[in-house]
Amino acid sequence: MKKRVLSIIFTGIIVSSTFLGGCSTKESNVSKSDVSKFNVTGLPIVKQKVTLKVVSPKAPLAPSYNEMTIFKKLEEQTNVHIDWNNIPDTDYQEKKNLLLASGDLPDAFYNAGFSDYDLVKYSQDGTIIPLDDLIDKYMPNVKKLLEKKPEIKKFITSPDGKIYSLPIGEEMGSGQGAIGSNPYFFFINKKWLDKLGMKIPTTLDELHDVLVAFKEKDPNGNGKKDENPMSFIHMWWCADIGNLFGGFGMADPNDHLIVRDGKVIYTAVREEYKEAIQYFSKWVQEGLIDKESFTLTKDPNALFAKGKTSEQTLGSFIWWEETEIVGPEREKDYVLVGPLKGPKGEQKIAWSNGSQWGRGAFVITKANKNPEITARWIDQQFEPKMTAQIHWGPIGEVYEEKDGKLVNKPLPEGVAMGEFRQKVAPNGAGVVTAEDFEKIVDMEPRAKVRIDRVKLFTPYMEKEHLPSLFYTPEEVERRNQIETELGEYVNKKRAQWLMNGGIEGEWDKYLSDLKKIGIDEYIKITQAAYDRYNSNK
Ligand code: CA
Repeated sequence: MKKRVLSIIFTGIIVSSTFLGGCSTKESNVSKSDVSKFNVTGLPIVKQKVTLKVVSPKAPLAPSYNEMTIFKKLEEQTNVHIDWNNIPDTDYQEKKNLLLASGDLPDAFYNAGFSDYDLVKYSQDGTIIPLDDLIDKYMPNVKKLLEKKPEIKKFITSPDGKIYSLPIGEEMGSGQGAIGSNPYFFFINKKWLDKLGMKIPTTLDELHDVLVAFKEKDPNGNGKKDENPMSFIHMWWCADIGNLFGGFGMADPNDHLIVRDGKVIYTAVREEYKEAIQYFSKWVQEGLIDKESFTLTKDPNALFAKGKTSEQTLGSFIWWEETEIVGPEREKDYVLVGPLKGPKGEQKIAWSNGSQWGRGAFVITKANKNPEITARWIDQQFEPKMTAQIHWGPIGEVYEEKDGKLVNKPLPEGVAMGEFRQKVAPNGAGVVTAEDFEKIVDMEPRAKVRIDRVKLFTPYMEKEHLPSLFYTPEEVERRNQIETELGEYVNKKRAQWLMNGGIEGEWDKYLSDLKKIGIDEYIKITQAAYDRYNSNK
């Protein structure tokens, strides 16, 4: 894309006569709460141009932000000029930390990438200011979002009960219907099922019999026993077997944490977990599960290759979607399998922990002499149609409006979406909500398909989960310490027991080892942060 040379010059004179009755002041040193110097509502925000210094990371292909159409529009509308300090995104965290340490502060950080640690540290020492009052008085769009989505308000609220940063996110589906609420999709070879005269399994025992038939009955018809009944990747975020454990009453997500009745539960100490491991360990002994499922933990490419062998050999697998594994020619041969009932009729799916939003996307510093104007400026980016343009690019370049909805224009020839997005969209703040995706902006077709598929699992999904909790720096430090050791040990034993059996004899020692590592404290810290989240209003 060619650099745009057009620069739009806007003088304060034109707008001043309209909005402030020609009252003229010299410059932009608007003092705090001096509401006569800016418009509390409507546009422009100020009659005479005000400049704010804002630091932001920038993607490699992005132009300087003052050359982006979307920011030119925003300056035209608001009369607020931004003196951007655009830092290449690869250097950003380091440069940001240097700026904060030096005390040479901008007015605000945009696409700020403030970690929870940063937010607590720099709010406690006063480097960044609380936004609660500003949201209430000068950010109607943010306020509306937080009223409509109280879970986002809880999510951005600091452990001290105040809000110091604004969120960013794209809600692809919401709640248990979110695009990633069950990342482990289990696909089975329907062509082989048809050939063998078998039905898509609905229970674990039926699946067992199908896998035996895949192994023994030469469904690919080449006269060789070369079929691989089932492959996955142990503990990979979208390829693990943990949701099949749900047939025993409790699924096992990657972090081994689920929530029931407000209580945080560690799955890998439960009887359900033990029973599931005993059950699936037998499948490994019978040769129904590919043993490489336990060794591919650093490289999913080997799983991709198993789906694309010249003779079709893959019976079933777990992954985010089927095409990546088996390729476009074979995708029609595989079907998604719903939640499978266990031997006692249990049928549970975990609801993945985490959130679709990030916090720390925008912060205002104590150096800012115009926090109200800054608040009004950033609030423009939370108006839903503007948020979409900030995330993907402006109307005219990326979108056209059809019946009030933003619809994607065809991409310029030879341009990839990801690259184009870097050039036209700062993607620095704002939340595109699930409702926005229905009413005002088009969603990528592949995302729509996946959200539809998640519906197969939601009736069986846990009713609660842990959002990305806001820990204090002390909590984070201790929790991470325990989590690392706990995860390594638990996951190692899980793989060993599934591959070789032996859980019965080692279970008691395992439980006492977890106590020594600090599992009780780990749960306690997690529970405290979850309780705090729930108590935010
Ligand atoms: Ca064969």
